[in-house]
Amino acid sequence: MKIVVIGGVAAGMSAASKARRMDKGAEIVVYEKGYHLSYGACGLPYYISGLNDDEKKLIARTQEDFHKLGIQTFLRHEVIKMIPENKQVLVRDIDNNTMFFDTYDKLMIAVGANTIIPSIKGIDLEGVHFLKTLEDGMLLKAAVNQPQIRDVVIIGGGYIGIEIADAMVELGKQVRVIEMTSGILTNFDGEISDLIAEELRDNDVELNLDEHVEEIAGQQKVEWVRTNKGLYKADLVIAAVGVRPATKFLENSGISLAKNGAIKIDKKMCTNIADIYAAGDCAQVYNRVLKQNIYIPLGTNANKCGRLAGANMMGANEEYVGTLGSAAIKVLGMEAARTGISEADAKRLDMNYTTAFAKTYDHPSYYPDATPIWIKLICEKSTKKILGAQAAGAKGVVLRIDIFAAAIHSEMTAPELGMTDLCYAPPFSGAWDAVNIACNAVK
Ligand code: FAD
Repeated sequence: MKIVVIGGVAAGMSAASKARRMDKGAEIVVYEKGYHLSYGACGLPYYISGLNDDEKKLIARTQEDFHKLGIQTFLRHEVIKMIPENKQVLVRDIDNNTMFFDTYDKLMIAVGANTIIPSIKGIDLEGVHFLKTLEDGMLLKAAVNQPQIRDVVIIGGGYIGIEIADAMVELGKQVRVIEMTSGILTNFDGEISDLIAEELRDNDVELNLDEHVEEIAGQQKVEWVRTNKGLYKADLVIAAVGVRPATKFLENSGISLAKNGAIKIDKKMCTNIADIYAAGDCAQVYNRVLKQNIYIPLGTNANKCGRLAGANMMGANEEYVGTLGSAAIKVLGMEAARTGISEADAKRLDMNYTTAFAKTYDHPSYYPDATPIWIKLICEKSTKKILGAQAAGAKGVVLRIDIFAAAIHSEMTAPELGMTDLCYAPPFSGAWDAVNIACNAVK
């Protein structure tokens, strides 16, 4: 049995490692076009902010580690074509500029997503950065630590843009986020994202909402950013406007792609072509609440689905239980997290829903340092089944949203979770935990 994996980070190396654990004798070959394998891109904002100054700590396993496991890995090797009828891939050795064919019995596509480079005049000026790969992170860290860099403009107020804003404040920069919609973190509803916006503004971050960048300008390097509303000084610009599945090389290969280029897969990570699997940011993922495939590029899904694909390539018959889109973010002194669907999703899908919004505390006020937690719930109107939860606060937020994730996964109703016996001791929570209180606010 020979397995070829395209892409060597979360989904790809999870698949390769699982396949190896299941079959010690299989030949496993990984082609990765970048310089590194198996690193945690999620740790990049904290590497840039200086919480961790060693990029090697982001690498879970090196090429040498994989070779010891009998997984052959080829860095700077890009698969440029797939020929399913011959079970072949065409590989380009980037550094030597040579090409060769390789064959497979089973193929795993785990090529992730590429940063969207917005078509803005001046986007290629020196001083404009992106944050997707470890190399991007190393370049950005080196650039931002130059003493003359003071004014930092971030284009895009999504997860990555806001995580970068947090890092830049930690580094003492003057930060401006320019976002074309009316709010940041649009995976959250306004009640929660507004709290995060307030935290950013309280820390002197300028949030320019409903505004779009028209030009980035400067003599040799970036000096100004011009929007439809104003002109802003910028020593450094970071564009974080989203990602797109890196599947261009699959066009005309016969693999079914969704409109945005994501690979269509079933719950077993099978594509429409026999013996070809896909997972991670290059593919769609089954959503447990919506009961349909959607595109959610997150490391949680990439790791789990990659591992499942690895098992299925080796003869298992596992199905992914489905994502809830659970995600969390630290923004200066606040945490925010979400799981399931938002009210915006429920509205868009014309669902019959009800919501509750509760302000409560992480633990009783008689124990020092109690801080507020705001929780929003989205429930099915007729049954009160919990469909989504979001929260923000200084602490104790993310693990509470994890409780909601488990409840939504198990299709619990708000009244059931409202009476669930959660831990109580004053340093941690009240007799009625914040989770119970929010559930009992659902009418
Ligand atoms: P990738 O990690 O993108 O890996 C794909 C690899 O394939 C790449 O290395 C690429 O070079 C290679 N490749 C592409 N095309 C080819 C080709 N044709 N031939 C060979 N190789 C190819 N997720 C979370 O859940 N929580 C977080 O807190 C979080 N924070 C993040 C913060 C940042 C700054 C970033 C950038 C991402 C974050 N994510 C987070 C998202 C998470 O990192 C991704 O979902 C995850 O890395 C996806 O894994 P993947 O293996 O599908 O793709």
